[in-house]
Amino acid sequence: MSTPTAWSEDHFIAGEVALDFANTVYRRTPEIGAELLDSADALTGWLRRAELLPAHDDAEHGFDDAGHGFDDAGHGFDDAAAALREARGIRERFWAIFEAQHDGRELPTNALAGLLDTARRGIDGNVAVGPDGSTTPRTAHGALTVLALRGIRLALSPLPQPVRACDRCGWFFIDTSRGRRRRWCSMKTCGNQAKAARYRSAHPGSATR
Ligand SMILES: [Zn+2]
Repeated sequence: MSTPTAWSEDHFIAGEVALDFANTVYRRTPEIGAELLDSADALTGWLRRAELLPAHDDAEHGFDDAGHGFDDAGHGFDDAAAALREARGIRERFWAIFEAQHDGRELPTNALAGLLDTARRGIDGNVAVGPDGSTTPRTAHGALTVLALRGIRLALSPLPQPVRACDRCGWFFIDTSRGRRRRWCSMKTCGNQAKAARYRSAHPGSATR
């Protein structure tokens, strides 16, 4: 077994949780890169990092009695493999929807239907909805429900800032920069690589790698 992806703040650069979740592959363009959501543990780690898992003392909500609390087993899903499949399905729908949003095309209603379906199945019992419309998971599965709801919200009520995609890796982000000219997921990674590539093409003799 490989060790699960070690999530860091560099994986949470989108400014919106649904987009961060869409970015759980090494790169999205020009073709999908290595899978970062490579195990149920990686999924749980991501959800925890995104603060989408219920607090430990909520462990009595919806978990089985076989010790699948967060403290010991590391995940709160009754069926971890099914949860991972469902999570990847949500992500695929996010890709379809946010690519369309990004390109200025009509949103694919089948992808939206899939998210609504996930949300509908999970919302009664797994999620608390605040008077302000905020959604809080009550169970591990509720975290996936909340993710789907956050994606639906971003799809149907887009933010004033557009969904952008990194010129290099295709990771999505919300461009909140002042001039709306952010081009990279992160200066630390793609921004610097692009700068280095530009430098090399402008200074052919200097190419040392
Ligand atoms: Zn990038």
